[in-house]
Amino acid sequence: MNPILYIVIPCFNEEEVLDETARRILVLLDRMESEGLIAAGSRMLPVDDGSRDRTWQIIERLHAADPRVGGVKLAANSGHQNALLAGLLTASDKADIMVSIDADLQDDAEVIPDMVRKYHEGNDIVYGVRRSRQTDNWFKRTTATLFYRFMQALGAKTIYNHADYRLMSRRAVRQLANYRERNLFLRGLVPLLGYRSDVVYYDRARRFAGTSKYPLGKMLNFALDGITSFSIRPLRLLFHLGLFFILIALCILVWVLYKYITGDVVTGWSSLILSIWFVGGCVLTGLGITGEYVGKIYMEVKDRPRYNIELTLE
Ligand code: UDP
Ligand code: MG
Repeated sequence: MNPILYIVIPCFNEEEVLDETARRILVLLDRMESEGLIAAGSRMLPVDDGSRDRTWQIIERLHAADPRVGGVKLAANSGHQNALLAGLLTASDKADIMVSIDADLQDDAEVIPDMVRKYHEGNDIVYGVRRSRQTDNWFKRTTATLFYRFMQALGAKTIYNHADYRLMSRRAVRQLANYRERNLFLRGLVPLLGYRSDVVYYDRARRFAGTSKYPLGKMLNFALDGITSFSIRPLRLLFHLGLFFILIALCILVWVLYKYITGDVVTGWSSLILSIWFVGGCVLTGLGITGEYVGKIYMEVKDRPRYNIELTLE
């Protein structure tokens, strides 16, 4: 039997793009249905992530015009990752498979049929992977590459050049819900599920309207979350650094004793003051990193709900 597909689209102030996005997605749904890839009842599910513009009104209008447009409205802006999870979990009540894609369709929606085909071949997860980053500027390209490399080095399983454009089966989404952390970094979690997966390649386009909802600050925070949510290696590094410092201190001690024995004692004010500052700086950095984890424990222990659905359109 053909699967019911829900296309989940997180939207934050996307009034400029939503109409065009819905038009393209609905055409795509039609085509996949007539090609026998998906069942009737497949839909698109925009999630309004507490937008301050007319995004929700547009979703309501689209829903009234076509029952294949659903809608989830979050009561407040909860961030891309949480909005995505809210959409996926809502969709998993009805859908057999879910594709998540950004509202601006920068990730080429035309490869969704390929994703569905890979699902038919027995994959539970299909990752959309960017073939090139030519449309991103130099800065975004370099920082992104550095980030993926760094994550790899820290031992977190992420798919190179894959953002949150992917297909997941219902059981994969249900299993994802069991990862009960607040600092959501979905592209790190999904590979941990361990289900059979494959990739499809696509070219990333420019945003066709509107501006990026991911300014530099948000992007950096997201990267930092990704790193500290998935790796405790920085803590271990701190430990090793500590041992190394003790070793240096022992060497200095030997040197000082030697100087003392040879009678050459009134030296080293500058080296002393330098060491104090240097070690102090290292201790502070260490405290900062530790604090990052303590902060995370604090947030997890509170076990707050990750989102709050105000209403859904059936
Ligand atoms: N988004 C969201 N909540 C936020 C920020 C962004 O739901 O707080 C959505 C946004 O509407 C878009 C997707 O996340 O569908 C990716 O954002 P954007 O395209 O602005 O990021 P970029 O492509 O520039 O990295
Ligand atoms: Mg975008």
